[in-house]
Amino acid sequence: MQASMDAATIAIVGAGVFGLSTAFHLRRMYLDVKLVLIDRTRGDDTSRGAAASDLNKIIRADYPDPVHMKMALDAQDSWRADPVFKSYYHEFGMLFTEDMGIGRASFDNYQVLGVETWSEILNKEEAVTRFPSGWAEADGAVASFFAATCNAGVTFIKANAEKLVLDSDGNWTGVMISEEGGQTREFLADRTILCVGAYTDKFLANTSPGRSELQVNGRLIAAAAVQCKATYPPEEEEKLSKAPVHFLGMWHTHGETIPPFNSRLKFNCEVSFTNMTQHDGLGENISIPPSAETQSTWSQNVPEGLKEELANVVRNTHGSYVPGIKIESYRMCWDAASPNQDFIIDYHPKCKNLVIASAGSFHSWKFLPNIGEYVVKRVFNTLEEDLVRKWAWNRENTGSACEMYDPSRDMKAIGPFKGWPKTQSPEGLTEPS
Ligand SMILES: Cc1cc2nc3c(=O)[nH]c(=O)nc-3n(C[C@H](O)[C@H](O)[C@H](O)COP(=O)(O)OP(=O)(O)OC[C@H]3O[C@@H](n4cnc5c(N)ncnc54)[C@H](O)[C@@H]3O)c2cc1C
Repeated sequence: MQASMDAATIAIVGAGVFGLSTAFHLRRMYLDVKLVLIDRTRGDDTSRGAAASDLNKIIRADYPDPVHMKMALDAQDSWRADPVFKSYYHEFGMLFTEDMGIGRASFDNYQVLGVETWSEILNKEEAVTRFPSGWAEADGAVASFFAATCNAGVTFIKANAEKLVLDSDGNWTGVMISEEGGQTREFLADRTILCVGAYTDKFLANTSPGRSELQVNGRLIAAAAVQCKATYPPEEEEKLSKAPVHFLGMWHTHGETIPPFNSRLKFNCEVSFTNMTQHDGLGENISIPPSAETQSTWSQNVPEGLKEELANVVRNTHGSYVPGIKIESYRMCWDAASPNQDFIIDYHPKCKNLVIASAGSFHSWKFLPNIGEYVVKRVFNTLEEDLVRKWAWNRENTGSACEMYDPSRDMKAIGPFKGWPKTQSPEGLTEPS
């Protein structure tokens, strides 16, 4: 191990949604800052386990929380117009079929914010014939943003960050990285922004297991949702080309489907789960994404019960309307989720010069163009006071951005799928065919 000579002013660890966007805006807003972006995978690697990487992701502004709605509307402007993003964005609309009140609350927010919207509350008959959000080619857009960020002068280092390097007072001074070939060294910086998503908890535990005040302690948790890619008969292309994103949040189904890209449909099941694992240093269980790479990338290495849950989503979204859909591969996509699905963007109160930007909580991808602006403002103490409080490390976690994404079970407890508890089943309704 050697100490690095090339110390940076700011090091960003993790080049997913938070890290990449922060690096880009930091470079744009503070030209003279010496900046490095560190990740074990490149932003243009399409086989990486980052939650940022995917076939496609949903871009919507429909939020019960006006702050998220406003941020998403701003992000959507970039998705429509910014040359880095616009060719990856497809605005075909989104259909919410749900009985949780998200549609009504979002609709009311559009009125409160005075935003002209095409959104409508439709009854079942109207929904069959009408759809007015959109979706983005995820890997393409991230690769394009990664290229723009490197071209803007951000130095990228492909390395695994092992842990933070702390001084004798327990404050941040650098990060221990191992580069390809296994060489390990300390990378020194004045400040670091930790953007490692689902690995936040493990990373802090690895850094200093003996210091409980440094640990995440329930402020966020690593959780996954399962998704699949599926093929369909070529003759169904025409029908699918007109399809919106379809979110189905009913008692019988908790999932969504995104229109085809590269001749593949994608389905998510929204019922997320943890992977509680004994951390030897801490001597307690924390949720850590599984170590097998195939359990965070596209593969067949997914519990059978999750495969059955996805078959339920496929059946109840397209069903007999699109015959011949065949699931090709699966993926457990790991994210960090906070108790109220608000992000964490804050200085760590017990570790000077360390900023945490995480807790994407299954809904932050759409903010790729603009989330970094907020992180940079927090770093330089120019973030609006209400947002500082909203995204604080220590906070009350009131309200909920997307309650249904809250993890409700552990991976090891997932058995055969026997249907969801029917407590919310409205009288007289049967499962769709
Ligand atoms: C199934 C699923 C579907 C989703 N769909 C949507 C959607 O449709 N729309 C939407 O808006 N949001 C969606 N999201 C949410 C969104 O993808 C995440 O919230 C977002 O990607 C989180 O960003 P991040 O930067 O925190 O983490 P990530 O994107 O996971 O990035 C973290 C980065 O840190 C790196 N890293 C981790 N540990 C280390 C280490 N020790 N050393 C070096 N590098 C490290 C990783 O390689 C990775 O690149 C979805 C999430 C999931 C799981």
